[in-house]
Amino acid sequence: MSYTLGEIKKLIMADPDMGEVLKQYPLRITPHIARQIKRVGDPIWRQFVPDVREIKRDGGFRDPLGEEELSPVSGLVHRYPDRVLWLVTERCAAFCRFCTRKRLWATGIRNHNREDFNLALGYIEGNPKIREVILSGGDPLTLKPGVLLEILRAIRRIPHVEIIRVHTRLPVVSPKSITQATVLALKEAQPLYLNIHVNHPQELTTEVRRVLTAIADAGIPLGSQTVLLRKVNDNPETLESLFRALLTLRVRPYYLLQPDLMEGTSHFRPPLSLGIKIMKHLRHRLSGMAMPHFMVDLPGGGGKIELVPSFIRDIDDDFVYFETRTGGLARYPLEHSESRELLTLFREHL
Ligand SMILES: *Cc1c(COP(=O)(O)O)cnc(C)c1O
Ligand code: SF4
Repeated sequence: MSYTLGEIKKLIMADPDMGEVLKQYPLRITPHIARQIKRVGDPIWRQFVPDVREIKRDGGFRDPLGEEELSPVSGLVHRYPDRVLWLVTERCAAFCRFCTRKRLWATGIRNHNREDFNLALGYIEGNPKIREVILSGGDPLTLKPGVLLEILRAIRRIPHVEIIRVHTRLPVVSPKSITQATVLALKEAQPLYLNIHVNHPQELTTEVRRVLTAIADAGIPLGSQTVLLRKVNDNPETLESLFRALLTLRVRPYYLLQPDLMEGTSHFRPPLSLGIKIMKHLRHRLSGMAMPHFMVDLPGGGGKIELVPSFIRDIDDDFVYFETRTGGLARYPLEHSESRELLTLFREHL
């Protein structure tokens, strides 16, 4: 069983509040994604089909990461000295309902023009501390391959930019849109890392696998970002099979992200403790190669921080006591007077 876009629309329009939801946050879904929906409310449905809870006032923010204040020129977010996030387009092939930047959907999709591009490039050029440019959006791979190539070449002409990173969901939501021309443009801009956004093993269809294989075969290193989402992937079994599948596709799991405090998305947010528990469970089951970092992007532009499960059970004058793989205790000897320093470092975990 799968759905067409028309069938999905008919099902959701039964709710009288849906018109208002769509006015604020339009529905956009690719035929590829619609075909992956097997039943109402399944993990693909939850991610892409509008829900009336999206217009509920739930204490979230319109710009949860305070990006507008950190934007020196249109489209650039400069929070960390050595890297800059460049939102080259606001277009996406499909709209994820939990999106941090969904405020941009309502204002209409703005196409950045040449003047914006030149301002952004000029800013990067004038800041020799910037070593890495991260193309994001929107989805940078929705740009025409020629435009993408032009942007990548312009960045490559800036000598202090060492690394280019591209954040995209396109290989997952519309694999057929990734053309040979796109792959060649990415390949030419090396060293370049491609990070895909993927949340559930059901998203890794035959077509998606084929496209990821072609990208890896072109020599482009792949990483992934996964958002921890209630009733989508909020259990260790789903994430274990996702991370294992990604690793076999030569995609290294990079971040597992706690959802941002975006207004109208609280029905997607699990408690913070859940992610920590899941990471603890996965730590000894999964190859280290398949383990992402669990991150929270702090509200108000405070930056990303990692939440790490603790395996420390106790510290005394002579030993640290760790929880072992099988739930036992292992003690590790301490150097003279080290225990006070360790206690300070780990106080928050004890
Ligand atoms: C997430 C983010 C980055 C990249 O952070 P990494 O931890 O290097 O992946 C850079 N700039 C901004 C503004 C970001 O939000
Ligand atoms: S692909 Fe990214 S930017 Fe686009 S709607 Fe989904 S989460 Fe938002």
